[in-house]
Amino acid sequence: MLTSGNDLEPTPHIALLPSAGMGHLTPFIRLVALLTSNNVKVTFITPHPTVSISESEGFSQLFSTFPQITRMQLHLLPLEDSSSKSEDPFYYHFELIRRSSHLLSPLLASLSPPLSALVTDMSLTSTVIPITDALQIPNYIFFTSSAKMLSLFISFHTLVDPKAKDFVEISGIEPIPRSWIPPPLLEDTNNLMKIYFTESGKKMKESSGILVNTYESIDGESLAALNKGLVLKGLPLPPVIAIGPLPPFKFEKSQPLAWLDDQQAESVLYVSFGSRTTISREQIRELGHGLVRSGKRFLWVIKDKKVDQEDEVELVDLIGHGLMGKVKERGMVVKNWLNQEEVLSHPAVGWFLSHCGWNSITEALWHGVPMLLWPQHGDQKINADLVERIGVGMWVKNWGWGGDPIVVVKGKEIAETVVKMTGNEFLRERSAQVRDEARMAVGEGGSSHERLNDLIDSWKSSA
Ligand code: UDP
Ligand code: UDP
Repeated sequence: MLTSGNDLEPTPHIALLPSAGMGHLTPFIRLVALLTSNNVKVTFITPHPTVSISESEGFSQLFSTFPQITRMQLHLLPLEDSSSKSEDPFYYHFELIRRSSHLLSPLLASLSPPLSALVTDMSLTSTVIPITDALQIPNYIFFTSSAKMLSLFISFHTLVDPKAKDFVEISGIEPIPRSWIPPPLLEDTNNLMKIYFTESGKKMKESSGILVNTYESIDGESLAALNKGLVLKGLPLPPVIAIGPLPPFKFEKSQPLAWLDDQQAESVLYVSFGSRTTISREQIRELGHGLVRSGKRFLWVIKDKKVDQEDEVELVDLIGHGLMGKVKERGMVVKNWLNQEEVLSHPAVGWFLSHCGWNSITEALWHGVPMLLWPQHGDQKINADLVERIGVGMWVKNWGWGGDPIVVVKGKEIAETVVKMTGNEFLRERSAQVRDEARMAVGEGGSSHERLNDLIDSWKSSA
C-alpha cells in the first residue's frame, strides 16, 4: 500500500497550558483546534477545577469534537493562605496554578513521544520557564491580547514611576496616555495583577517565541517595534509571531436564536461586556433606558457577577418591572451567556456595543461588525484605541473606565451615542474591508497563515 508524503513527515508533539477565564481559554481552544487540524499531536493540560462553568463547558466541547487530543489535568492545590482570594477570582487562579507548578514537571516529563514544545499562557510565564528550562523543552508564550499591550507587558518592569507622568513612553511605540493603563498597575501597593505583570513580563524575553492573536494590518507598529528589538531599547526579544485572528472554532452544540432570526438584516445592536465584567445596577438601568430610547432593536447580555455560577439574580430584579416591559418591546435581554460567535455571525446583527475584550474585538473584526467601544478595565482602553484607529469603532472617552463609582453615564447620552454610531455608514463600509483583511491574514498565503506554518515546520524539523 502506498503512503502519502504527509504520513512520512515527522509529527511534532506540542503541549499547551492555559490559565483562567474565557478571555484566555477561548484563544487557546482556537489554537488547539487549529494545530490539531494541521496534524500536530496535541496534549492539552487543563487546570482543575476551573473558575467558571463556561470554562469547563469549553473544555468538554473541544474534547468531544476532537477525540484525538490528549487531555491531562493539572490538579490545583488549595491554598492555606487565602488572603489573595478577595482579589479578582481569575487572578487568584493564576496564583493557584503557580503554587501547584511543581506538579507540572513530572507531568511534562511523562509525556510520550517527548515534547517538541510547550505553549503557555502569558500569566504563567515566570512560573513555567524555569520548569521547561530544566527539562530542556522549548517554551512558547501565548499572549492573548494585542501586540500593543504586549509592548507594555514586556517593558512594564523597566518603567520608572509610570503614574507620575501623563504618558507612558515605550521605545518604538506611540506614547500611551496614563489614563489607558490598567489602574491596578498604577497602585502603590502590590496586587496580583501588578505582580504577574512585573514578574511574567520580565521573564518573557527568555521564552523561545511569543505567539500573539493579532495580525499585521491592525497591529503593525507594535509588531515591528517588538521584532526590531526597540521595545527593550536594543535588548533582543524572542520572535514575536502574529498568528491571528484565530478563526472561531465551531461548537457542535448551538443555542437557538429564534428572536434574532425574526429580525431584519443588520438591524440589531448586540450589547455585551464579555465573560467576567459586571457593571453597577445603576449603570445597568441607565443602559437599559438608553437602549430603549435609541429606538434600535437590541440583544443585550447582562451579567451581575464576575463568576457565572454565582450569578443567580433574576433579570427582572436587576432592571425592574417597568424597564423590563419596555426592553421587551424592542429588544431581547438574557442573563449571563450567549454563544457570541453565533450572535456575531448572525445576519441580523448590525453593531456591537463591547467592553473591548481582545477576543470580542477580534471576533467583531472577523465578522465585519462595527463597534461602540466602552472599555471597562485591564487592556481594554488600549484595545479601544486600536479599533478606533482602524476606523471600525466609536469610543466616547469621557465615559471613563467601567466600575467608576463617580461616572454613571446617563441613558439619554447612551441613546444619543447609539443613534450617532448606528447612523455612521463609514464604520460599516470600513468594517467590511477590515473583515476581508482579517480573513486574508489567516487564509492561504496570508501573513498569519505563513507565520503559523513556519512555526509548525520548525517544530517538525526538531521532532
Ligand atoms: N463570550 C461568549 N458569550 C458571552 C460572553 C463572552 O461567547 O456571553 C466569549 C467571547 O466570544 C470571547 C470570550 O468569551 O471569546 C471573552 O473574551 P474577551 O477577551 O472578549 O473578554 P473577557 O471576557 O476576557 O473580558
Ligand atoms: N431613568 C433613568 N434613565 C433614563 C430614563 C429613566 O435612569 O434614561 C430612571 C428614572 O429616573 C426613574 C426610573 O428610571 O427613576 C423610571 O423611569 P421610567 O419613567 O422610564 O419608568 P419605568 O422604566 O420604571 O417604567
